[in-house]
Amino acid sequence: MPRKPRIVIYGVDNDLTKYEVQENLVSQNNDMTSEGFEVLSSFQGKQGKNWIIQLNPDAYQRIKNRDRLNVGWTRLKFREYLRVMQCYKCYRYGHIRERCRNDESCVRCGEGHRSTNCEKSMKCKNCSFHNSIFATKFKTDHLANDINCKIRSKEIEFLQSQIDYGQ
Ligand SMILES: [Zn+2]
Ligand SMILES: [Zn+2]
Ligand SMILES: [Zn+2]
Repeated sequence: MPRKPRIVIYGVDNDLTKYEVQENLVSQNNDMTSEGFEVLSSFQGKQGKNWIIQLNPDAYQRIKNRDRLNVGWTRLKFREYLRVMQCYKCYRYGHIRERCRNDESCVRCGEGHRSTNCEKSMKCKNCSFHNSIFATKFKTDHLANDINCKIRSKEIEFLQSQIDYGQ
């Protein structure tokens, strides 16, 4: 079953409870409805808590292009929340270190050693691998966990393909 869209809202007042976060978001923002609305979890950020919220697809469509959402007395930034999984042992996507069965790989040069203190030139292992298999010409002079990596973008597209955006 496709997942519902999720957002993360940054810097919510630490004193607000999960219930208050839900109440404020639903009552203070046009087009936000409690139907399918679920406050999932939070993690501590610099300016307060960052809350992960699940929305029904229609509500997500209506709010996704807004700049901020009202929460209590504040207007807070948010963005789509996608859980990109990257392994910190082999640097491939889709699993975490604890489940890794691959050999250790360097985040910088892609060779089989630990990432610390590597001074070789940057060569993204995932882009290099894709180039060699599919004859693509993705740039490879970046770290394997660079946010602009093409393989990372593909992973994000894949995660988005599993979400019901209601269109
Ligand atoms: Zn791994
Ligand atoms: Zn290296
Ligand atoms: Zn790359």
